[in-house]
Amino acid sequence: MYVAAVPHDAEFDFVIVGAGSAGCVLADRLSADGRHQVLLLEAGGRDTNLNIHIPLMVAKLLMDERVTWPFMTEPQTHLNGKPQLWVRGKVIGGSGSINGNLFVRGDPQEYDAWRDQGCQGWGYSDLLPIFKRLEDFPQGDPAVRGRGGPIHCTSLDRFDPLSDAFLAACAEAGFRQLPDYNDGSYEGAFYLQYSTRNGWRSSSAVEYLRPARRRANLTVLTGAAATRIMLDGKRATGVEFRLGDAARTVRARREVVLAAGPLVSPKLLELSGIGNREILQKYGVNVVHHLPGVGENLRDHPNSRLTFECAQPITINDVLRNPWLKLKEGLRFIFKREGLLTICSATAQMNYRSHPGAKQPDLVLRLLPLSGKDRYARTPRYGLDPFSGFTFGVTVLQPRSVGTLHIQSRDPLQQASMDPKYLSHEADAQLFLEGMRLARRVAQMPALKPLVVRETRPGPQAQDDAALLDYMRETIQTSWHMIGTCKMGVDSSAVVDPELRVRGVANLRVIDSGICPTIPSSNTNIVSIAIGEKGADMLLAAARA
Ligand SMILES: Cc1cc2nc3c(=O)[nH]c(=O)nc-3n(C[C@H](O)[C@H](O)[C@H](O)COP(=O)(O)OP(=O)(O)OC[C@H]3O[C@@H](n4cnc5c(N)ncnc54)[C@H](O)[C@@H]3O)c2cc1C
Repeated sequence: MYVAAVPHDAEFDFVIVGAGSAGCVLADRLSADGRHQVLLLEAGGRDTNLNIHIPLMVAKLLMDERVTWPFMTEPQTHLNGKPQLWVRGKVIGGSGSINGNLFVRGDPQEYDAWRDQGCQGWGYSDLLPIFKRLEDFPQGDPAVRGRGGPIHCTSLDRFDPLSDAFLAACAEAGFRQLPDYNDGSYEGAFYLQYSTRNGWRSSSAVEYLRPARRRANLTVLTGAAATRIMLDGKRATGVEFRLGDAARTVRARREVVLAAGPLVSPKLLELSGIGNREILQKYGVNVVHHLPGVGENLRDHPNSRLTFECAQPITINDVLRNPWLKLKEGLRFIFKREGLLTICSATAQMNYRSHPGAKQPDLVLRLLPLSGKDRYARTPRYGLDPFSGFTFGVTVLQPRSVGTLHIQSRDPLQQASMDPKYLSHEADAQLFLEGMRLARRVAQMPALKPLVVRETRPGPQAQDDAALLDYMRETIQTSWHMIGTCKMGVDSSAVVDPELRVRGVANLRVIDSGICPTIPSSNTNIVSIAIGEKGADMLLAAARA
């Protein structure tokens, strides 16, 4: 149940910090059998804002600091010194309440690589039962897709003429079409799948936490920002947090679980004295446990875009400029739960290898039925183009540029210093160039060419590598897939072991997307939910032992 406060120093079996994609799953699964008292602390508020639940309204959410953390990265040396805005969800459901709803499990080979690096239990065949358990995709092959699980998956098959033309163009360029890219196959072109149910967002807040919230043994406290983990030597005993202006504590009889996401969980570890000794000492934090991997291994998918003017008024640009089309789409959503309001980003995609020798798909080409400048920048120039337009997003699937995230003071209210070091590895820039060129080739295929009036960004003048690189350095943006800052593994740089226990500290786990050793070649919401599911199994098994 939601409460306004808990008694000072109250005791629970499990204290979970962060009600995001993973945290909501944990709260549900840990409280399901009624045996454990569970507290879920969330810094943001409840997910009552209607814009959260209508997918196309996500653009409004990204500008809304009532439901987001507006984190800023360090200036990016390889992006002409510009910092990046990194919005995250600050609300029940976390980033899963403000994300693009794309439903992607990821490349099976990436999980197998985790297992092969020593993360027993994290190979694709180990994760398959979890992926099936968390989803409801009735039309999928039951051998590999789940039915009746919490997160509903909707396929955009034959969504609109632009997506059809894009996929036909990919076929003309020599790439095969995949009927279901979440069935274990991953290379090819496909209509995307969305985590939506009847057109509404299907988040872990809606599908896990909402049905569980009335349980007497589950307490949910919003507006509660954790500031430090309480430790007795090297054993976690509780959490310090702020509720409004008041400093509070709660105790955990069994375990403290950090699920505050990859940009906050490592900061909480460092503020509590768990991290690289040199960094902690620099900011006057008492070192409890030297764990040098904390805050290292920050990874994200940078994204470059080409935009095109479209020859027909079939894009989101047209709908948002035309009051009648807006009304029509509004009515379609209200009465049929279909149409543009049920999507918010890409509709179709192609995963492919940049060259035949690549061991797995290493590039993505993604179609978005809209175009504009600085889609996610909070600038007065933000907005869609005043003409029909679409975008090709190009993403490097396994970027080799790796960054860091560390505290920059002892003040828990100050964000950590975040430096993804985008394009610091030359191989990433080269792959982007390959991706941009392939995008142009697809745009010229007979199926798509009649829809292309002109390339508007970077535009025909940008032909050689230098011009394309200039454009990329000016315009590359995040894909919102930050992970890795509390890396799981068995080597000395690992923060958690494969059971997600913080190495060297008892009764403390990190269970959020920060534990991924590498990006699973995909969007990261479904893997975050899977991490929540698997982490809950581990906590319950330990409680039974
Ligand atoms: C704009 C955007 C679009 C995206 N689009 C997609 C997409 O289409 N498909 C996809 O698969 N993935 C997408 N992602 C990524 C995906 O949503 C995230 O990877 C995933 O939600 C991460 O889950 P998490 O549980 O690790 O963290 P989060 O969901 O971010 O949860 C962390 C929670 O902890 C809370 N918290 C933070 N600090 C504290 C504190 N001190 N005390 C208490 N609580 C705290 C936060 O408020 C938040 O609720 C997108 C992300 C964003 C931001």
